[in-house]
Amino acid sequence: MTESNVTVAPGVLDGLDAWRDLPIKQQPDWGDAEAVSRVTAELSKLPPLVFAGEVDQLKDRLAQVAAGNAFLLQGGDCAETFDGATADRIRNRVKTILQMAVVLTYAAAMPIVKMGRMAGQFAKPRSSDHETRDGVTLPAYRGDIVNGYEFTAESRQADPSRILQGYHTAASTLNLIRAFTQGGFADLREVHSWNRGFAENPANKRYETVAKEIDRAIKFMAAAGADFDSLKRVEFYSSHEGLLMDYERPMTRIDSRTGNPYNTSAHFVWIGERTRDLDGAHIDFFSRISNPIGIKLGPSTTPKMVHRLIDILDPQRTPGRLTFITRMGSGVIRDVLPPLLAAVKESDALPVWVSDPMHGNGITTPNGYKTRRFDDVVDEVKGFFEAHRQVDTFPGGIHVELTGDDVTECLGGSEMIDEETLASRYESLCDPRLNHKQSLELAFLVAEELAARD
Ligand code: PEP
Ligand code: MN
Repeated sequence: MTESNVTVAPGVLDGLDAWRDLPIKQQPDWGDAEAVSRVTAELSKLPPLVFAGEVDQLKDRLAQVAAGNAFLLQGGDCAETFDGATADRIRNRVKTILQMAVVLTYAAAMPIVKMGRMAGQFAKPRSSDHETRDGVTLPAYRGDIVNGYEFTAESRQADPSRILQGYHTAASTLNLIRAFTQGGFADLREVHSWNRGFAENPANKRYETVAKEIDRAIKFMAAAGADFDSLKRVEFYSSHEGLLMDYERPMTRIDSRTGNPYNTSAHFVWIGERTRDLDGAHIDFFSRISNPIGIKLGPSTTPKMVHRLIDILDPQRTPGRLTFITRMGSGVIRDVLPPLLAAVKESDALPVWVSDPMHGNGITTPNGYKTRRFDDVVDEVKGFFEAHRQVDTFPGGIHVELTGDDVTECLGGSEMIDEETLASRYESLCDPRLNHKQSLELAFLVAEELAARD
């Protein structure tokens, strides 16, 4: 990954900075331009967090998803925090995703591509540049890589040195993820035994049958001489919203094998609903990197926009390159998604379609909590499957905000978290996440949908 000993096609390096002349949204006002230059120069010399070969492997895996032969599970915090990057919390999140993946693998009878919203999910788009509390107005919190959450002028001032702290926190998070997923923690039998614990709880009786079936399948595999050692390791990919250009650009390097630019901050990066303007900076920059990329699509998306996005971001129609992450809202998904699926189906493009059942279903409770109803989340996933059934396209995966901890941020689920309970353990600095049990419950429910596909 050096830029010195490779042939780089003319214009590639300049092109990576073309976004600087385009309209851009959701970037902080750093104040100190010199400090930003110093930090980005330093960041551009630090080692990549992922290697281009791994990124290509993910692209191959996603090509399998697009073709209907695999399913994507993407999950993690809305906003990771520097303080939250502890061994316990990282382990709990990885564990939750692995547990969900086992259930989905069995139900789908296909490989599950596992991806964390982890190791770089530090920058947040905000609906307002400012926040006012008790008559005091300060810059909005934009994620730990930009400023602090604490509501003081000092903490809310954007601080460029946080970019480097973001890099180092991502590096140590990814290091631990690699250890967990390669070092034996991901042993299929172990992961299943955790799921058994979940399904044995009387509140989750409904899921016991599937858990028992998986039990039998594992016993069958053992009897048939399956190589369980190879099932102790899993591929696990990192992803985040590629929002903060002063992080994404310096992390983008030329691959010494091919001369192509790769964003080495994560295997997969996506553009959020608020920064995907067709003629904006983010779309231009993403069009030039070789990673598989995602685009969030909200309910106002038109078929014409989708066609334009495909032409700009995937002109070669590379399998696995483009993932559309739909976040429509449970009330409208059955109306707005089918026309988009149909328009793409008629074209020569084959993107991955993934459901984000979280971001279209936000509500605020009378006692002031930003939350989501578990039932709405489940209903959006069901609507997603229905839309794909209707158009005969492949529902390729789910993208969820979750944590492995026992928080109380989303309403409902088998623990029946109610509005009063939200206060007891609400920890998210941004959007509400499914807790460990709600995440597993969602996996079992999605498993029912997958198994019901003919
Ligand atoms: C997010 O994924 O946290 C987010 C801000 O989503 P969206 O861009 O879909 O609003
Ligand atoms: Mn969010």
